[in-house]
Amino acid sequence: MVKGEKKIYLKGFRSWAEINRKRLTENVSMIYNFTGKYIFAVVKADAYGHGAVNVSKILEEIPEVRYLCVATAEEGKELRKAGVSKKILVLGGILDDEVKCFRDYSLIPVVSDFYQLNLALKENLKTVHLKFDTGMHRLGFLSDEIEEVIKKVKGLDIEGLMSHFPSADTDRELTEKQILTFRSIVNTFQRSGIYPKYIHLQNSAGLVYNCDYCNAVRVGISIYGGKPSNNFPLPVKTVMSVKAKVITVKKLKKGDTVSYGGTFRAHRDMDIAVVAFGYADGLPRELSNKGFFLFKDRKLRILGNITMDMTVIDATGIKIKPMDTVTVIGKDCKKEIYFEDIAKMCRTIPYEIMCRISKRVKRVVVDE
Ligand SMILES: *Cc1c(COP(=O)(O)O)cnc(C)c1O
Repeated sequence: MVKGEKKIYLKGFRSWAEINRKRLTENVSMIYNFTGKYIFAVVKADAYGHGAVNVSKILEEIPEVRYLCVATAEEGKELRKAGVSKKILVLGGILDDEVKCFRDYSLIPVVSDFYQLNLALKENLKTVHLKFDTGMHRLGFLSDEIEEVIKKVKGLDIEGLMSHFPSADTDRELTEKQILTFRSIVNTFQRSGIYPKYIHLQNSAGLVYNCDYCNAVRVGISIYGGKPSNNFPLPVKTVMSVKAKVITVKKLKKGDTVSYGGTFRAHRDMDIAVVAFGYADGLPRELSNKGFFLFKDRKLRILGNITMDMTVIDATGIKIKPMDTVTVIGKDCKKEIYFEDIAKMCRTIPYEIMCRISKRVKRVVVDE
């Protein structure tokens, strides 16, 4: 990133998330080169907190990215209104009061039961992807409904067939069974003369499996540089770095306590810094007295309870002042705090930490 530019981005914002364009496109290339399959880039939930519009505008320039996937029609509408023109697949399917939105904004639904199929037929939404449930037990037609589905869809353009893995990172037996089940579903369609353009099954954790009859992958966390499992084979890099400004610095006397509830007590005189980032910005309160921020290769630990808008860190012996920038998540000089590290401390998954980064945190695309 150009040095002078950074100052402009920061002006007036106490916290921001830098979205690294180069890392995002490199992660996509890496996945494409590894799989040889088209990319359906998952940008639901505001692109896992990265900012769906900015991320989609970067991704739609990549020819191997054939689809952007959102969870709801409303998310698709937001992208269209911002000028995104790539195809948009709505993973969450279609409900009655969303039909107009699908039509007006050229969104493609994933149809996963007869209720939705009848709606698509009635409303003449011609192009759909069909989802089959091979073990997730959330959305999707059941395998034994296949003949009835095939009978009903004759007038539609079945552009895609899909299924979804619940446990590609933990359950090899189930995942391999799903790969076989889905293959026989695809074969049944083909024997009936239906040849969907896209066959897609793998999510990020599923990339390690061989699904040679599929020609696309639906990837989310891995394009953002998150690892869906410990043994994920690709060296994807974290796309988002979350930064915040120091508001004030002050001294603490031995015996003083910090923040609500006084859960931290100083055992000696200390220096502290107050950072403009709290749980309303998406920092899990669970990191109180546990987590740390980075400042120029130093780890500065969080003292006391994280509050809604601010967090106190230990700055003893550190030259730090108001307007200085600390790194809440991501890379600072040679050190890096990964979403996975924070997720582990909070007994959750990196996905949740990513999409919790709140609206108040300004997203800026950087070119490094
Ligand atoms: C969210 C989602 C994905 C992406 O999963 P990742 O683990 O982030 O790669 C793929 N398919 C469906 C149906 C999803 O809901």
